[in-house]
Amino acid sequence: MTKEKQFVFGHSNPDTDAVVAAIAYSYLSNQLGYNTEAIALGEPNEETKFVFDKFGYEYPRVMNSTNGEVSSVMLVDHNEFQQSIDDIADMEITHVVDHHRISNFETANPLFYRAEPLGCTSTILWKMFVEQSVEIPAQIASLMLSAIISDTLLLKSPTTTDQDATAMKSLAEIAGIDYETYGLEMLKAGTNLDSKSTKELINMDAKTFDMKGNNVRVAQVNTVDVNDTLTRESDFVNDIQSEIASENYNLFILLITNILTSDTTGLILGDDSAIAVFEKALNTKVSDNKASLPGVVSRKKQVVPPLNEAF
Ligand code: MN
Ligand code: MN
Repeated sequence: MTKEKQFVFGHSNPDTDAVVAAIAYSYLSNQLGYNTEAIALGEPNEETKFVFDKFGYEYPRVMNSTNGEVSSVMLVDHNEFQQSIDDIADMEITHVVDHHRISNFETANPLFYRAEPLGCTSTILWKMFVEQSVEIPAQIASLMLSAIISDTLLLKSPTTTDQDATAMKSLAEIAGIDYETYGLEMLKAGTNLDSKSTKELINMDAKTFDMKGNNVRVAQVNTVDVNDTLTRESDFVNDIQSEIASENYNLFILLITNILTSDTTGLILGDDSAIAVFEKALNTKVSDNKASLPGVVSRKKQVVPPLNEAF
């Protein structure tokens, strides 16, 4: 008997891990007898485009709603409904594989839920392939390797664990790739910001969080030259202000992260009280909308938890 079709997807504004984890989990599930299709909740960013071009892998169908094609789904690399597909509340969620905090998540029925505090969803999936004795095809290994490099900034992010390093090395071996050389090339491809408008950049890798009733948006762009990125500072500020007005954010944080020095400059706008909470949480001062965040590279580990705590 054929199983009912399901979609597998990562969060909206997908990063490399969100798309790759959907592909890898869809492949694994199908090997185990499920009938799934990986989809993406958005177009690829520069880095992800580089990865798919490099390995000649076709980017999944881009959808914002299931359009009635399925009634049940599997989530990877996220669980918060506001980061998910538009009609998530109408879907039966049967599986989640994720490495984020669990928030705003509820189901009517029992489900498979695997959360591990590792650097990348693709690392958890690598473990699941090993546990199930399912071989990882070289092309999918190349994608998973790229996702781990992306999420851990080549194992330099504080979110990195030993298991991420082990998975990365094993995947590099399957794919036949020198991960050091390839990793830098891939991260640099992701910092090509010139072709994007500031409006696109503040939405490209942005997530919304509910923090004690405050609507908080945290966006991040990677660069190799923060000053160069800030030549467009006034455009960024204008676009952030209009996003705040149209989406009712209490706080909008744009993290401009230098992937070579592992430092961040933040553009911080919003309610005065929310900005004060940010200053306290991150132990910094916001002046002229800007805050210096030395040593900060991880939204998930270094920005969201202290901010959530402070609210
Ligand atoms: Mn992600
Ligand atoms: Mn991830």
